[in-house]
Amino acid sequence: MTLAHTTQFQVRGPVSGTSVSLPPDGQFIGGKFVPSTSSTTMTIENPATEEVLAAVPAGTVDDVEAAVAAAVAAKDAWAATTPKERSDILHRISNIIETNRTLFEELEAANTGKPAAVAEDDISSAVDTFRFTAGAARTLTSLAAGDYATEHTSIIFREPVGVVGVITPWNYPLLMAAWKIAPILGAGNTIVLKPSEQTPLTTLKLAELIADILPPGVLNIVTGLGSVVGQRISEHPDVDLVAITGSVGSGQKVAAAASSTVKRVHLELGGKAPVVVFEDADLDAAAKGVRSGGFWNAGQECGAACRVLVHESVVHEFTDLLIREVRSMVIGAPGTGADVEIGPMISRAHYERVLAALEDVRRDGLTIALGGRPLDGPGYFIEPTIVTDVPAGAAISRTEIFGPVVSIETFKTDEEAIQRANETVYGLAASVWTTDATRALNTPRRLDFGTVWVNSHLVIASEVPWGGFKGSGYGRDLSLYALEDFSRTKHVMINRGS
Ligand code: NAD
Repeated sequence: MTLAHTTQFQVRGPVSGTSVSLPPDGQFIGGKFVPSTSSTTMTIENPATEEVLAAVPAGTVDDVEAAVAAAVAAKDAWAATTPKERSDILHRISNIIETNRTLFEELEAANTGKPAAVAEDDISSAVDTFRFTAGAARTLTSLAAGDYATEHTSIIFREPVGVVGVITPWNYPLLMAAWKIAPILGAGNTIVLKPSEQTPLTTLKLAELIADILPPGVLNIVTGLGSVVGQRISEHPDVDLVAITGSVGSGQKVAAAASSTVKRVHLELGGKAPVVVFEDADLDAAAKGVRSGGFWNAGQECGAACRVLVHESVVHEFTDLLIREVRSMVIGAPGTGADVEIGPMISRAHYERVLAALEDVRRDGLTIALGGRPLDGPGYFIEPTIVTDVPAGAAISRTEIFGPVVSIETFKTDEEAIQRANETVYGLAASVWTTDATRALNTPRRLDFGTVWVNSHLVIASEVPWGGFKGSGYGRDLSLYALEDFSRTKHVMINRGS
C-alpha cells in the first residue's frame, strides 16, 4: 500500500515592488544596440506574477541580414586572434557575469519565475562555463604533424567554422546561451544568436555588459520568433553552422532549413530520462535523487528524472519514500525564500499544456498518487505530481511533459528494464540506481543515452560532454568536444620529394 494523498500544496505568493535591471531596447548588432527594422514588439512576462516585464523587438529577416553581415565582417579578424587572446576575453566575460551575479540572478528569476536556488545555480554554471572554456580553448590537440605518405608531410589545422547561428530555449536562458557562446567564440567563430522569444532579457543584458570587451560584430543578438528570425538564421547562406537547443520539432525545422545550404547542424533537443531503480538500490537515495532531479526547475529540464522504472518487488517502498520526499517541497515565487524549490511554468500556454497532459493521465486511468492540480494564481504554478500504476507503453512514458510530473512503472527482469528504458524516441539522459557493481558497469553500456548516471541524476560538470542520441539530437555542449564541434579540421599535405 502506498501512502494516502493528503497534501495540499500552497504557493508562497509573489513579493511586490521588486525591480530588475533591464537591457537597452533594440537588437545588438555590430557591437551596439540598434533599432529593429520592425516596430512590432513581443511582450516579456513574469510567469510568477503574470505582470509585463518588458517588450523586445519582434525581429525581421532584415535584422538577421544586418546581424549576419556584421558577423561576416568580424570573422577574419576574430579567427586570426590567438587562443590566448580569446581566452583572456572569455575570462573577462566570466568575471563580468560573476561581478553582476545578483543582477543576473534577479533578472533571470523575474523572466522565468525560477527559485533563487535555481537562478543561483544557473549563473554559477554560466560563470564556470566561460572559465572552463577559457582554459580549454588553449589546449586543442589533433593528430601529430608527420609523414603518413612517402615524402609527404601532413599538417592538421583546427580552424574556426566561420559564422555560427545559435538558437536558445527558455528554461535556462543565460546558461544555454553560455554553453554556446563560450566554445563558439573560444574556437574563433563569430555569432548571430536568437534567444527564446519568452526569455531574451539576460542574454541581452550580457551583450550590454560585454559590448566593450568584444570586437564589434563578434557577437550579435537578434530577438524575434523562431519561425522568422530562427528560420532565416538556419537557412542563411553566410551562416556556416547552426546550433539549436530546443524541442524536437524546432530541431527538425532548423535541420530542414539548414539543408538548403548544407551547413553543419548542432542539435540539443528534448528528453524523457528513464530512472532505473533495481531491487538492490539504496531506495532512500533514489527517492532523494528523483526529488531533486525530477523537480529541478519545476521539471522544465531536458534531463529531468521524470520516468522511473522500478523493480516490482520494491515499488511500494520506493513510491512511499518518493511521496514523502516530494510532498514537503516548497513552492513559491522568486523572492519568497531560499528554501523555495518549485516555481511556475514559463507561460500560460505551457501551463495549459502540462495540465492537458495531466488530464490525459486521468483519462488513461492512471493513479495520481500526489499533486496533479493547478495552484491558485497569480502565476502558472502546478503541484508537484507523482503518477503511479503506469503500464508499459503508456503515453506518459513516451512524451516529454516538461513540468513537475514524475511517473512510476515497474519491471521484472534486468533485460526488461533495459529494453523498456530504451523504448523512447529520446536519448539524452538516464540514470541507474543499484548497489551491485556488475549492474553499475553493465547497464549504462546498454542504455542509448548520451549521459548515464549511476546512483545520481542531473549532475553536470563543464569538463564532460552533454548531448543526446536518437531524437534528442547530436552535437555536444560543454567539454573539449564542444570546441571540436564548433571548429573544423583541415589537412595540408606537402610534397617534399625531389
Ligand atoms: P522550442 O523548440 O519551442 O524553442 C527553442 C528555440 O527554437 C526558441 O528560440 C524558438 O524561437 C526557436 N524556434 C522555434 N521554431 C523555430 C524554427 N522554425 N526555426 C528556428 N528556430 C525555431 O523549445 P523551448 O520550449 O524553448 O524549450 C524547451 C525544449 O528545449 C524542450 O524540448 C527541452 O527538452 C529542450 N531543451 C534541451 C536541452 C538539451 O541540452 N538537450 C536543454 C534545454 C532545453
